[in-house]
Amino acid sequence: VSTSAFDVKKKRLQQQITQARASGKSVRLQKNASNLFRHRQKSQAFKIDVRDFNQVISIDAENRLADVEGMTTYEDLVAATLPHGLMPTVVPELKSITIGGAVAGIGIEATSFRYGLVHETVRELEVLLADGRTVICSPDQNSDLFYGFPNSYGTLGYALRAKVRLVPVQPFVLVTHQRFSQAKDFFAALKKACETNRSNGPVRFIDGVVFSKNEMYLNLARFISAPPVGVRPSDYTYRQIYYRSIQNKKHDVVTTRDYIWRWDTDWFWCSSHFGVQNPILRALAGRRLLRSTTYWKIRAAAARLGALFPKNDPSSRHESVVQDVEIPLDNAEKFLDFFQREIGIKPIWICPTRSVDPEKKFGLYAMNPEKLYINFGFWDVVKSTTPKPPGFYNKRIEVMTEKLGGKKSLYSTSFYSEETFWRLYNKKLYDQLKTTYDPDRYFRNLYQKAVQAR
Ligand SMILES: Cc1cc2nc3c(=O)[nH]c(=O)nc-3n(C[C@H](O)[C@H](O)[C@H](O)COP(=O)(O)OP(=O)(O)OC[C@H]3O[C@@H](n4cnc5c(N)ncnc54)[C@H](O)[C@@H]3O)c2cc1C
Repeated sequence: VSTSAFDVKKKRLQQQITQARASGKSVRLQKNASNLFRHRQKSQAFKIDVRDFNQVISIDAENRLADVEGMTTYEDLVAATLPHGLMPTVVPELKSITIGGAVAGIGIEATSFRYGLVHETVRELEVLLADGRTVICSPDQNSDLFYGFPNSYGTLGYALRAKVRLVPVQPFVLVTHQRFSQAKDFFAALKKACETNRSNGPVRFIDGVVFSKNEMYLNLARFISAPPVGVRPSDYTYRQIYYRSIQNKKHDVVTTRDYIWRWDTDWFWCSSHFGVQNPILRALAGRRLLRSTTYWKIRAAAARLGALFPKNDPSSRHESVVQDVEIPLDNAEKFLDFFQREIGIKPIWICPTRSVDPEKKFGLYAMNPEKLYINFGFWDVVKSTTPKPPGFYNKRIEVMTEKLGGKKSLYSTSFYSEETFWRLYNKKLYDQLKTTYDPDRYFRNLYQKAVQAR
C-alpha cells in the first residue's frame, strides 16, 4: 500500500465524518469484527466505514518498525512481519484484534512482562478527530494525545495509522509448563521468572493458567532455531487443544506462528461453549472454522436472537462475567482467593505485565512502574442458585479490584457509578483532552461509552 492510497482513503473518511456531523447523528465504526464485549444500546448512529484501513504499509526491518493502517488485524500484521524474522513486540491473543483497537483499549500478552502493554510498544499514531482533521501524535508531537489515547476507546479520535515496534524471532518456541499446587508458590515463581528474564534472560514469554485451587501452571517460553532431534512440533490449530496440553505436557515445541496464536483456535477455552472441543464436532468444523472470529459471530447471532425474546424478570440466575483486571503482584494471591471463593469461574488466564514508562505518562490507564501487575482474564457465565440483581458478581470484582490497587479493562460491561468511574479513570486529564481534541463533545465520553453503553 502506498502512502497515497492511504491518503485517498483518509480523505473519504474525513468526508464521511463531516457528513455525519452535518446530519446531527453520532458516529460508530463500521468494521468486520470486534472484540468488544459490552452490549451497546441500539442507536441511529452514522457508521463510518473503516474496513479498508486494514493494510500493512511498510516494514522497516532495519529499524524494526511496522507502519500500518489502524484497523489492520494482528493476524495480518504478524503474517507480514514473520518473513522478516520479526514480530510485533506485544501481540494480543485474538487474531482479529486490530492495532487501533488494542491501543485505544488495552492490549496484553505474554511478552508484556518485558515490554509493557501494547500501547507502550507504539511509536506514533495518526488520529482522525471529531472535526475531520487528522493529527500525528507521538512522544514529540501532540504528546498529550499520544499518552492520553490508550484507554480512550475511540472517544477522542480514531487511530488510522500506527508505527509499531518489532522484535526479532526465531522459527520455533520451546514452552515449559511448571505445575504448582499453592498460589503462594505459583506467584513467587512467576515473580522470579519475570525478574530474571526482564531485560535479558532466555525466557521471552510468560503467562499462566489457574485450573483450580490447587492446580496452576506457569508457562515459560523461549525461542529456539529448530526442534530438538526427534521432536515434532505440536499443532494446536486443529485436533489438539492448547490449553489442555498445559496439563499434560511438561515441555512442548511449536512454530513461532502457532505459539503466537495458541489461544485463538479455542478462544482460550471458551470454544467449549460451542461444542467444538468434542473430537467429532472438531473434525467436522475443520481447521478454517476453529478460530475466535467464528465463535464471536455465533455468539453475536445468538445475542440477536435472544433480543427477540426479552426477559421480564430483571433479576437472573445467570450473569455474564467477561473481564480482564490487572492486580499488583503483592495482592495477586488475595485477589485469586477472593475470586475462587466468590466468583468461581475457571480456568483463569494469568499474564504478568509491568509499565515501562517510569513517568506514568499514559494517564488514562496509569500503572505504577515500580510494580509488577498480574492480569487475571476470566470469561464465562456465573450461575447462582438464587436470583441476583444485575451486575452482582461484576460489581464485586470492581470493588475488589479497586481495593487491591488494581485496574479493570473497559472492553466489557462495567457497573461503576459516574463518580467512582471518574475517580478511577482520571477525569481531570480526560476533560483536558476532550477540550483540546473534541471541544464540541461530538464523540461520546468514556463513561457514556464504557458504562452506559451509549
Ligand atoms: C473474551 C475476550 C478475551 C480478550 N482477551 C484479550 C487478551 O488476552 N489480550 C488483549 O490484549 N485483549 C484481550 N481482549 C480485549 C481486546 O483487546 C479489546 O477489546 C480491544 O479493544 C479489541 O480491539 P478490536 O480491534 O477488536 O476493536 P473493537 O472491538 O472493534 O473496538 C474496541 C473499542 O475500541 C474502539 N476502537 C476500535 N478501533 C479503534 C481505532 N482504530 N481507534 C480508536 N478507537 C478504536 C472502538 O470504538 C471500541 O470502543 C479480550 C476481549 C475478549 C472479549
